[in-house]
Order: sequence, then structure tokens, then C-alpha cells
Amino acid sequence: MNILVLADHDRGTPKKIAHQLLTAARGLADGEVHALLMGADAGAHAEQLGAYGAATAHVWDDSDAEDYATEPQTAALVAAVQASGAQVVLYPGDPLLSDVVARAAVRLEAGVVTDVTDVERDGDALVATKPIFGGDMLSRCQVEPGRPQMLGVKANAFAEEEVGGSPADVVPLEVTVDDAARRARVVEVVEEQSSGRPEMTEAPIVVAGGRGLGEAEGFALVEQLADALGGAVGASRAATDAGWYPHQHQIGQTGKTISPQLYLGVGISGAIQHRAGMQTSQTIVAVNKDPEAPIFSIADLGVVGDLKQVVPALVEEVEKRKG
Ligand SMILES: Cc1cc2nc3c(=O)[nH]c(=O)nc-3n(C[C@H](O)[C@H](O)[C@H](O)COP(=O)(O)OP(=O)(O)OC[C@H]3O[C@@H](n4cnc5c(N)ncnc54)[C@H](O)[C@@H]3O)c2cc1C
Repeated sequence: MNILVLADHDRGTPKKIAHQLLTAARGLADGEVHALLMGADAGAHAEQLGAYGAATAHVWDDSDAEDYATEPQTAALVAAVQASGAQVVLYPGDPLLSDVVARAAVRLEAGVVTDVTDVERDGDALVATKPIFGGDMLSRCQVEPGRPQMLGVKANAFAEEEVGGSPADVVPLEVTVDDAARRARVVEVVEEQSSGRPEMTEAPIVVAGGRGLGEAEGFALVEQLADALGGAVGASRAATDAGWYPHQHQIGQTGKTISPQLYLGVGISGAIQHRAGMQTSQTIVAVNKDPEAPIFSIADLGVVGDLKQVVPALVEEVEKRKG
């Protein structure tokens, strides 16, 4: 079984999710692991993916990938599946790629499983696990035997692990893009304003604040704790709806899904819609003054207390230990 990883990158620098998916692929493949990198400067550091187990990196560095995203990228993904002989594609479960993967799946007659949080081998088959019903249940899915399978894996579902293998063999990917594929083009890209903190879905540590903060200014406490830990800032919907923090930081069913090594929630009750976006976090810590708050039922560590006292004490302790 060869596996192709759709390796997301930032101007040629592979993102953490690319390393995570390659690590997962290495554990599942009994054939070769391949990577596909698309877009401007895609090949700049492609050989480095060998350290995570990619034998070959297929690179498509073409303005078509940037300017006419969906159709040309679909053609590239199909070409890479054919060139690599992959029966399985692991891709980042990112809304930006779902249109590309869906189209490629139709062309390849492949089965698709989205929101995957784990993949295991069962003989020759792969079994993917995904949360359903807002994360209340786990579903185990298997693609019909004989079909290619495309698994959209959530960020941080797998840990990244280097193997120190030899550099990947970097090969340019031949992609034919016809005029019909250029019907829709990207006309403008608006960069999100950066806070200097890590991106929430990529960060290993996320500190999230909720209505218990009492006011927008309460988020200063959350930011202090996030900065002390080197983490990202998240929020409940009650906090974003109140205008206390921008909506792109909302975690949950109608916000973003995160799966960091550490989630620290302060003044968040743990409603089911919030839990749907964070309950696969590896370690969950909650600070809440109500001992009956539902978040404590999924927390590994809970502190019952007033966040206005607990959070500053925590920041002080973290700073002290950092020396
Ligand atoms: C269709 C739908 C989709 C939704 N999607 C989302 C979603 O994506 N994300 C999301 O988060 N929610 C979502 N919600 C809303 C969700 O149901 C909850 O209303 C919301 O998560 C509550 O946010 P909260 O925990 O911040 O506020 P609350 O539920 O009001 O909880 C505040 C908590 O703070 C504690 N507290 C108060 N003061 C202090 C203090 N001084 N110190 C310590 N603790 C204190 C309280 O004990 C309480 O537990 C959705 C709802 C619907 C219907």
C-alpha cells in the first residue's frame, strides 16, 4: 500500500500538519510514502520531508495552482495519485482543500472520510475514526475495498516524529491544465491580521476564554496566560458573540476544531457545542467557579475557583518556572 500525503506548506516551508500526516503514513504504509506539494515555491524545502518518511516529493510549482485554485489543483492531485501509485491519500482536514479533494475523489472513484482523528490498519484495510453528533460519539469508517481512499485528518490528530531518513527524491509533477479549468480565478487574497501568537489550529497549546471573563477586557488575562505558555488564544461562542474576541477564534461546532496537546479553558461552562471543537485535545484543564460545570466531566485537571485569582497565580507560576 503506497500512501500519498497532501503536504501543506507556507511558501515552501512544510507546515506541522504535513509532518504529522507523514508520520501517520509511515506507520500505516507497507509500500512507499509520497508527498505532494502544490503552489508557489512548493519545492523550496521539499527534500526535508524525507526526515519524516517521504520517499518521493512530487512538486507542482505553477501559477495555475495559485490563480485558479480548485480545478488545476484537482488535476494535480489526480496526477500525483497516478504518479505515486497511491491507494490512500492523507490530506489536512482543511475547508480550503475540501472542494479539491471532493472533485479528485469523483474522478478517481475514491471513497472519502472527513474529520478523521485516528487511522488504524485492519489487515489490508484502513479503519478511520471520526467524531459524530457534535463529538458525542465516535464512528469507525472503512472505504469499500478496491477503491482508492482519501482521508481528511484533523490537525494534531497525530504527533509528528522525525525518522532522520535520507532526503526525499524531489520530482516535478506534470500537470495538464486546460482552459476549462481556468473558469474561476482567485482575484484577491486578504491576509489575516497577525497577533504574533501561533495559529489556533496549529498550536500545541490553546488557552480559551468564555463568558465567565465578564467583559472584553477579561481576555487580557487569557492572553497573558497564552503568552506565558507560548500558546494561542481561543474563545467560546458566548464570548465571540458578545464581541469580546474576534470570531475567527471561536472553538466549537460552528467555530474551529482544535486538537492541541493542552487545552486550558477559563470561564467556559463546556456546552456540547463548545466541546465538539476541543474534546479531542490531549490534556484538558478547566478553571471554573462552578464545581458542577459540564467542562469538568471531560477535564483531566480542574480548578474550582475564581479565574481572576487563579489565572494571575498561574501566569506567575509559569513565569517563575521558566526562570
Ligand atoms: C447551533 C448552536 C451552535 C453553537 N456553536 C457553538 C460553538 O461553536 N462554540 C461555542 O463555544 N458555543 C457554541 N454554541 C453556544 C453554546 O451552546 C454555549 O451557549 C456557549 O458555549 C457558552 O459559552 P460559555 O461557556 O463561555 O458561557 P456560559 O455557558 O455562560 O459559561 C460561563 C462559565 O463561566 C463560569 N464563570 C463565571 N464567572 C467565573 C469566574 N469569575 N471564575 C471562573 N469561572 C467563572 C460559570 O460558572 C460558567 O460555567 C452554539 C449553540 C448553538 C445552539
